[in-house]
Amino acid sequence: MNKIINWFDGLVKDDVGLVGGKGANLGEMVGAEMPIPPGFVINVHAYSKFLDASRLRGKINEILSQTDVNDSKQLAENAKKIQEIITNAPIPSEISNEIKHAYYKLGKQIVARNDNVFVAIRSSATAEDIPEASFAGQQATYLNTRGAKEVVRNVQRCWASLFTPRAIFYREEHGFEHMKVLIAVIVQEMVDSSISGVMFTANPISGVPELIIEAVYGLGEAIVSGEVTPDTYTVDGNSLEITNKSISTQKWAYIRGANGKTIKTDISLELQDKQKFPDQMVRDMARIGRGIGEHYGIPMDIEWATKGKNMYILQARPVTTIKNEKDCDEGKGIDVSKAKILLKGLGASPGVVWGTVEVIKDATELDKIAKGDIMVTSMTTPDMVPGMKRASAIVTNEGGITCHAAIVSRELGTPCVVGTKDATKVLEDQMEITVDATRGVVYEGKLSGLLEGEEKKKEATVMGAAAPIITATEVKVNIDFPEVAEKAAATGADGVGLLRAEHMVIGIGEHPSKLIREGRDEELVNKLAEEIGGVAEKFYPKPVWYRTLDAPTDEFRTLPGGENEPEEANPMLGWRGIRRSLDEVEVIKCEFKAIKKLREERRLTNIGVMLPLVQSSDEVRRAKEIAHEVGLEPQRHVDFGVMVETPAAVVIIDDLIDEGIDFISFGTNDLTQYTLALDRNNPNVAKLFHETHPAVLKLIEMAIKSCRKRGVKTSICGQAGSYPAVVERLVELGIDSISANIDAVQLIRETVARVEKRLLVEGARNTKRL
Ligand code: PEP
Ligand code: MG
Repeated sequence: MNKIINWFDGLVKDDVGLVGGKGANLGEMVGAEMPIPPGFVINVHAYSKFLDASRLRGKINEILSQTDVNDSKQLAENAKKIQEIITNAPIPSEISNEIKHAYYKLGKQIVARNDNVFVAIRSSATAEDIPEASFAGQQATYLNTRGAKEVVRNVQRCWASLFTPRAIFYREEHGFEHMKVLIAVIVQEMVDSSISGVMFTANPISGVPELIIEAVYGLGEAIVSGEVTPDTYTVDGNSLEITNKSISTQKWAYIRGANGKTIKTDISLELQDKQKFPDQMVRDMARIGRGIGEHYGIPMDIEWATKGKNMYILQARPVTTIKNEKDCDEGKGIDVSKAKILLKGLGASPGVVWGTVEVIKDATELDKIAKGDIMVTSMTTPDMVPGMKRASAIVTNEGGITCHAAIVSRELGTPCVVGTKDATKVLEDQMEITVDATRGVVYEGKLSGLLEGEEKKKEATVMGAAAPIITATEVKVNIDFPEVAEKAAATGADGVGLLRAEHMVIGIGEHPSKLIREGRDEELVNKLAEEIGGVAEKFYPKPVWYRTLDAPTDEFRTLPGGENEPEEANPMLGWRGIRRSLDEVEVIKCEFKAIKKLREERRLTNIGVMLPLVQSSDEVRRAKEIAHEVGLEPQRHVDFGVMVETPAAVVIIDDLIDEGIDFISFGTNDLTQYTLALDRNNPNVAKLFHETHPAVLKLIEMAIKSCRKRGVKTSICGQAGSYPAVVERLVELGIDSISANIDAVQLIRETVARVEKRLLVEGARNTKRL
C-alpha cells in the first residue's frame, strides 16, 4: 500500500497535494532547520484508503445526490448524517495501527515515553490552487489530544470535517467533485507555551530590515484577539541589537488547563510588570526570524512560542498587507523607560495625550475643566459629560472597562484610564502629565517621543484604511450622544443597535420625575423626540433601537430634582432599567409617545424599542401594555425587543419569546456582572471581569439557540461586541447582528467578514481536484 505517514523532515513546500498546504510548509521549515515542534502528517492516501475499505463513497454520494444545498435545513441534516457515517465507520487496522505507531514514535522523541504526550491534531488543506484558499480556512483542530486511541478518533473527526454544511455547499457552488477532494491530517507536539507571540521579519509599515517581536505570557491568542497589550521589542536586522522596548503590564494569561481547554489565569503580582523574556532570548528569537525571512526571501509574519528555554516556530506566512496600528513601530526612539510613572490603571479608551491636570470632586466643579485639560476624578457621572467633552483625556480612581467613564470616552474618542485607585490623590491641579491610555499608564511630564509615536500610529491607520466590506451578519453601532450620529452613520454601520437614553435625559437638565411632577410631560416628549429623531433621520431607513431609560439612582442624583433619589448600597443591583420604568410609568409613557410622534409626524418608521435589565415576562407584558395605551403598537408600529442582561432572562428566554418580541440584544456589561457576581464599577474585582468567562459564553449560546429556533433576531450591544475574540464566537453561533462602539465598527466588520469567509469556505483548502 502507499505510504500513509510522512514525517515533517521529509517534506518540502511542493508536497501540498500529498500533505496539504500546512503540512508542506511545516516540512519546508524543518528542512531549513527551524525549531518546529516535531510531528507527522497522515497523508491523503490514508483518507482515500479509509473511504474505500469502509465502502463509504457510495453511501456518501447517495446522500449528497438527495441534498438540495440551498435548503439549509436539509443540508445541515444530511451533512450531519455523512459526518456520523464517517466517524462511526471502523478504520482498517493497518491504518489505525500505523497512526498509533507513529504517535508512539513521536512520544518517544518528545519525552521518551510513548503513550502520554499531548499533541495538536489539525486538518491540512490540499486546495492551494483555489483562489479563495488564501483564507486561513481549516476543517478542524483538536488541541491537547492525548493517548493513541484518542488520536485516531480525532484524525477520523478531521476526515469527517470535510463534510460540514459549508464545505459541501462550497464544493457544489464551485463544481468540485466531492469524492475527489482529499484531506491530510497533522499530528504535532503540543507546545504548552509559557511565553508566546508574533514576529515580523521586517517592519511591516516601512519595510526597514528590523524585526518586530510582540510577546505575552501564556498563549498567543491573547495578542491576536487584542485583549492583552504585549511587550514590543524592535531588533536591528543586521546587528540583532535591541533598539527599542516597550514593556506592558499583563494581569492574566490564556493557558491550557489540565483538561485541555483554554482557560484564563492570573499572573502573579511580581511578574505582571516584568519584561516578558530576557534580552538574550529576544535576540535569539530575532535570529530565528531573520533566518526564516532569508529562507523564504520575503518578509514573514511568524507565530512563535517558548517553553522554558526552548523556542518554537508554530507558523510562518508571508506579510501580505500593510499592517494596522497595532503592528506599527510605535515606540521607536521613545525613551519611556526613564520617565516617571505616576499611576497605572486600565486603558479604557486608547490614545496618548499630554496636558494639564484638573482634579474635580463632582459635576459642580466642572467649570475648572478648560478645553484640552486632563480631567481627573474618582468616577464620572452623566452630569459630568460637558466637561468630559472638553477634556483631552480622563483619568479615574474607580471603574472597570464598562464603567461610565470608559463607555463615554470610547464614544467621544477621548483617551481614558480607569481604575487607577489613587488618581485624585497622586495628581494635583496644574500638574503636567502624559496619559498613555493605550497601555493604561500615566507619566510625569511631557513624553515627546511617546506623543510622536502616537502621531505615526494615526498616519499608519489612515494608510491602512480599508474599503467598505459587506457582511451577512449586520454590523451596527452604539450611540450614547445624539450629536455623534453623523460620525456614527459615516462608519457605514447597518443601523444603531443601542441608542442609550440616559444622556439625552441628562441633557434636558432636570430630573425626568421632576418634569412629570410639574406637569411638563410634553416638554419631555418633545425633547426626546428631537434627540431620537435626529439619530433616526441620519440612519433612515436603517433600524435604530432606542433603549428605554436605564438610570441607576447614583447617576441621576445630582440633577435638579434628583435630590429624592434613594440612597442605595449597590445601585447596580438597584432601582434601574425596566423595573424602575414600571414603577414610574409616566416616564416610559413619554418615551413611547416620543417614538409615536416621530412615526406619525416625521414618518420615522425605523425606530425600535429595547427594554433594559429584563428578568421576567411580566415586565415585557406590562411594558407592551403601556405602549399600547399611548397608541404605539409593539411589533406592528415598532420592532420590540429586550436586552438579555440577567442570567434570569436566559433561563426564561422561551417565556419572554412567548410574550411576543422581535429581537434580543445581549448587554454583556451587565450579563457579565450578574453572572459572575462582580460589580462592574469596582476596580478591586476588575481583573475578574471577563465576558469570555465560559459561563457568560454558555448563557449567550443558550439564548441564541432558543431564539434561532423561534425566529427571534439576536444581537449584542455590550462592550464585548467590540472585542474580536467574542465576535468571532458569536458569528459562529449565528448571531444576526453585532453593535459595536463607533471606533470599533471597522475592526468588527473586518472580523465578521473574516469569520464569515472562513465559515463559508471551510474546507476550501481541501477541495482541490487531484
Ligand atoms: C450592557 O449592560 O452591556 C449594556 C449595553 O448596557 P449598559 O452598559 O448601558 O448597562
Ligand atoms: Mg446594561
